Amino acid sequence: MQSFTYDALPSRVIFGSGTISKLKSEVDRAGCRRALLLSTPEQAESLHQIAQSLGPLAAGTFTQAAMHTPTDVTERALKQVSECNADCTISFGGGSSTGLGKAIALRTDLTQIAVPTTYAGSEVTPIIGETKDGVKVTQRTLKVLPEIVIYDVDFTVGLPQRLSVTSGTNAIAHAVEALYAEDRNPVISMMAEQAIGAMGRALPAIVANPQDRDARSEALYGAWLCGVCLGSVGMALHHKLCHVIGGAFDLPHADTHTVILPYAMAYNAKAAPHADAAIARTLGGRDGTSALVELAGRLGSPRSLKSLGMPESGIDRAADLAVQNPYWNPRPIERTSLRALIAAAWAGEAPKTFD
Ligand code: NAD
Repeated sequence: MQSFTYDALPSRVIFGSGTISKLKSEVDRAGCRRALLLSTPEQAESLHQIAQSLGPLAAGTFTQAAMHTPTDVTERALKQVSECNADCTISFGGGSSTGLGKAIALRTDLTQIAVPTTYAGSEVTPIIGETKDGVKVTQRTLKVLPEIVIYDVDFTVGLPQRLSVTSGTNAIAHAVEALYAEDRNPVISMMAEQAIGAMGRALPAIVANPQDRDARSEALYGAWLCGVCLGSVGMALHHKLCHVIGGAFDLPHADTHTVILPYAMAYNAKAAPHADAAIARTLGGRDGTSALVELAGRLGSPRSLKSLGMPESGIDRAADLAVQNPYWNPRPIERTSLRALIAAAWAGEAPKTFD
């Protein structure tokens, strides 16, 4: 007999094409009058168009959001929050923009509306990672969960191919680890399997034709489900490795997830046979690891940490960091096997399973 605890996360989700047209009424519905709009510099132009469409509801824009939510950027954004007397934020973009909205909410409790344009999933998690003096500290608190999420497929059609692949694989990683999470439950496991299937169908179609709107829609739907998985249950070795390796060697977030995922799955496969079977079932393949490797091959994904710029001399340091304060994991964390995993991922060799 199974027993579990399931905490549903409160968020209002609007999904479709052209849904940005609902932004004004959603600001209104939330009882807000002065929105501060947030983006990275690269998405400033689109942000300004959205601000224009809001008319007087747009109190200001801040376009300096950056990867890993640096606290000095947050401080500058907070100044603008008070200068324009904002009563809500609208984060437009990927995890970097969403992260800034979360950092503001953490300090002010302002209502957040997220308009995600990647597959990172941060918009539906109560998780925030902030970086100060090069150190990233992550915490979980409902204070940072955006109240409203507007998924508009139209904004994802132009997501560059490589970012679509790596961001999509980053999303798959949330669902894979949800399948073997210590606190997993049947609802989230069902979502995880659905999510991996949706991404597994959508990403190859997007690689074949980035303008394929049905595939874009399925990927964004899958990304939502993957985000809910990340927000609802604990993550394990894969996320730990990505955080320490990405942080220590300043590697791009989604690319690091993309390279590590099959190796982390191989490490855990025998300790989590139900997860291995679910991935093989939904992606099609003889086991979970080979299904993920085959998908990466079809997507032309980055396959080695070396290609992302990690030095070979960093392998031992990465193994040392990975065994410190480990997350719960279905297979015990031990340095010799982890070092072998990291060395194989560095070189892009075939992932090995461990007993
Ligand atoms: P990102 O937000 O940094 O975006 C990468 C680049 O792509 C940026 O320049 C951005 O402007 C651009 N971009 C985004 N969408 C685009 C689009 N549709 N078309 C063209 N360009 C677009 O990348 P990300 O991978 O979405 O987010 C990574 C960050 O999110 C990291 O800091 C990571 O730690 C965080 N994250 C947090 C959580 C969480 O739950 N807290 C979950 C996932 C990721």
